[in-house]
Amino acid sequence: MDADILVIGCGPAGIQAAIHASRKKASVVVAGKQSASALSGALIENYMGVPATDGDLLLSTGATQAREAGATVTGMNILSIRRDGDVFEAVLEDGEPVRSKAVVFATGISRRKLGVPGEKELFGKGVSYCAVCDCNFYKGRRAVIVGNDSEAAVSAEMMTSYASETSWVFWEEEADPSLISRAKDAGVSMHRSRPVSIDGSDKVESITLEDGTVIPTDGVFIELGAKSAADLAMDVDVMPEMDDSIKVDQGCFTGVPGVYACGDVTGKPWQMARAVGQGCVAGTSAADFVKGLR
Ligand SMILES: Cc1cc2nc3c(=O)[nH]c(=O)nc-3n(C[C@H](O)[C@H](O)[C@H](O)COP(=O)(O)OP(=O)(O)OC[C@H]3O[C@@H](n4cnc5c(N)ncnc54)[C@H](O)[C@@H]3O)c2cc1C
Repeated sequence: MDADILVIGCGPAGIQAAIHASRKKASVVVAGKQSASALSGALIENYMGVPATDGDLLLSTGATQAREAGATVTGMNILSIRRDGDVFEAVLEDGEPVRSKAVVFATGISRRKLGVPGEKELFGKGVSYCAVCDCNFYKGRRAVIVGNDSEAAVSAEMMTSYASETSWVFWEEEADPSLISRAKDAGVSMHRSRPVSIDGSDKVESITLEDGTVIPTDGVFIELGAKSAADLAMDVDVMPEMDDSIKVDQGCFTGVPGVYACGDVTGKPWQMARAVGQGCVAGTSAADFVKGLR
């Protein structure tokens, strides 16, 4: 399959990139799975002009818009990619090669898991990986933030504005000391011990720690940072940052000719609004590149 642009990722960033590039009359192939998008299974209530909406509905509507604009949405992952002169050659899951003049990385991030019993079973039933996304559901309820670094400290402090009781569980003190103090001052109850299980039958009821403490709670927010799917980028000479994100300029250009990136993979905040905005920029930039306009 030949295309002007290969978009890797069919979350909000990739789909928006495909819509904008296709409407500029570039031929576009989109790889990736809707079910693997961070948006899948989420309820979005902070996107301007859209009432609380199921993430899967947004994704499938977006994919239809991309198809209508002319893009080919494959629903398949990319297994490998390499550069051959001015052309990129990627391989889809079914073995079909995709040759393109430009590539847009919209691969998102994968949220790191805690790996304890109850985490998988109670995901979406009180277990969350995004405090900033789900804090509103915990107004007047109890919440536990789990994580060692500054990300967790900030989430714990923020959660005190919503939850009736906020606890922070960590086992290594890796957060910035000033952020730890702020969390303490905001009334966060601190527990230094590793979680061993998240408990509850059909919703979260408590979390159990290695030292035997059981904290009753309605929600557990796992904030362990994230590892991005930026590895493919290295095969086209883009070196990810230490946190695995891909650095881009204002045009979503990576600095490597023909390679653009957008959405969560380029950094925080990991939010749909930013992913969509950057998708628009990356799709437009990539289309201009293949048409020789930049
Ligand atoms: C539980 C939860 C709740 C959330 N709630 C909100 C909210 O309320 N408001 C908000 O704004 N944001 C929310 N978010 C965040 C939001 O979902 C993300 O910011 C957004 O989805 C990022 O879009 P993206 O396109 O960059 O990445 P993603 O949506 O994660 O998409 C990444 C895509 O890359 C693809 N991919 C990865 N590797 C490959 C490969 N090798 N080949 C092909 N494709 C690949 C995947 O298949 C996927 O399609 C929430 C996230 C979670 C997890």
